[in-house]
Amino acid sequence: MERQKRKKRPGKKMLFMIPLLFAGYRMWKNYREMRNRAFSDSLTGSWNFERFCQLAEERSRKNPNCCIVCVNIHQFKFINEIFGREQADRLLCHLKEEAEKTLREGELLCRESADFFYLFLRDTKEEKIKERLEHIMERVSGFFNGDHSDYRILFYCGAAISDEKRDVYALHQMLTHVMFALAKAREIHQNNVWFFDTDLHKKEIMDNYVEGHMYQALKDEEFKLYLQPKIDLRDNSICGAEALVRWIKKDGEVIFPGQFIPIFEKNGFCARLDMYMVECVCKELREWIDAGIEPIPISINQSKLVFYEKDYQERLLRVLDKYRIPPNLITLEILEGIALDNVEELNRKIESLQAKGIRISMDDFGSGFSSLNTLGRLKIDELKLDRGFLMEASGERDQREKLIMEHIVMLAGKLQIQTVAEGVETKENDGLIKTIGCDCGQGYYYSRPISAREFTEKYMKKK
Ligand code: C2E
Ligand code: MG
Ligand code: MG
Repeated sequence: MERQKRKKRPGKKMLFMIPLLFAGYRMWKNYREMRNRAFSDSLTGSWNFERFCQLAEERSRKNPNCCIVCVNIHQFKFINEIFGREQADRLLCHLKEEAEKTLREGELLCRESADFFYLFLRDTKEEKIKERLEHIMERVSGFFNGDHSDYRILFYCGAAISDEKRDVYALHQMLTHVMFALAKAREIHQNNVWFFDTDLHKKEIMDNYVEGHMYQALKDEEFKLYLQPKIDLRDNSICGAEALVRWIKKDGEVIFPGQFIPIFEKNGFCARLDMYMVECVCKELREWIDAGIEPIPISINQSKLVFYEKDYQERLLRVLDKYRIPPNLITLEILEGIALDNVEELNRKIESLQAKGIRISMDDFGSGFSSLNTLGRLKIDELKLDRGFLMEASGERDQREKLIMEHIVMLAGKLQIQTVAEGVETKENDGLIKTIGCDCGQGYYYSRPISAREFTEKYMKKK
């Protein structure tokens, strides 16, 4: 009896424990469900972005080789409108299923919002990643059938591949890079995968710096006047100089015109900069004159933007007046593209400036859509032959370029237009332009562009 009693006691305890265990299990199950709900996307059942990031970070900590892709549908808002919300939701679920099918061990998928899907892949070769994504796009592109069976869904994907040199904590940076790549991919209206490109990104950072700092830089006088001599080929004397702008940051870094002029031409800032350069040139000329140095004419590059401003000529003359500069010391360089629009109007402007004594030069002739016709119709004083001519003509294989250059120089001479060969880099280049009868030469062979102060020391004081 005594033994039986003793045996029963643990049984009673167990009976007491069962509801507790059951409650514990339910709590744990609820917690898991809640956690899953909190971590998953309610529409597709994939991970949500937060969980995706946590898992991706954990996994890349163990093995940093990975690729993150953001998959997007072109014009998804229209799909919502054309096919209705329900169909659009079905499409998103289908995309999730097709993408999920392709996942391998350790890879992840999530939907961040709307049609933004992220993939964490273990491949690091662009070709392979592209192939896998194209497979998904192909499987989903014909999702709509029936009346809309000809509707093709187009995708764009931005991707960033891990850098061997970077550590796992760069995952957030990778996600930022994915966004940059995605913005590029969006510009192309067809299925496409754009990989983040470090060099391109550096350029984008620079472009962003340029646009973000241009006003302050102008205020702080960071745009500096550089001068490159123009050489008279008859006696190798210096017959003028070209003003070239350099943006010198406070830390000494030099930004070259090719990095900011095209941006300023687009955003309109070039008009302000060009007028500022006119002022810099006039100031320099005034300093020479005041110092008793015989001045030489200076050419200033003028963009189409400034040239076509309504009060351009008045403003220009006001600056010349302010510094008491004889107009014949100023040559304005315009690009041949300026003549594409309206030659008559351009000629009126040119003639009006020439009447005041200012000279007009056509820059980079031969680099774009040059035509001899334009040359005949424009009343310019000087023609600058693009560096491309010399590059071609000095090659032994191309005597034809030399012949063309020679005849352009001859034609210009007959039209009383002075010729300047640009990009003279070698003794041979110098010899060649002399043989074909160019009037002037400009290029590294004679001198690189140098600061106005250095130019004064080197060339002007000696005179
Ligand atoms: P550009 O007016 O045709 O000026 C000549 C360019 O060729 C300059 O480049 C000069 O440094 C470069 N160059 C001169 N000699 C040689 C040579 O022997 N070999 C080679 N490879 N290059 C040579 P930079 O200073 O970088 O200017 C580039 C362009 O930016 C200029 O071409 C001009 O179109 C524009 N630019 C420069 N300053 C201004 C400005 O103040 N206003 C405007 N609107 N444009 C400017
Ligand atoms: Mg020029
Ligand atoms: Mg030029």
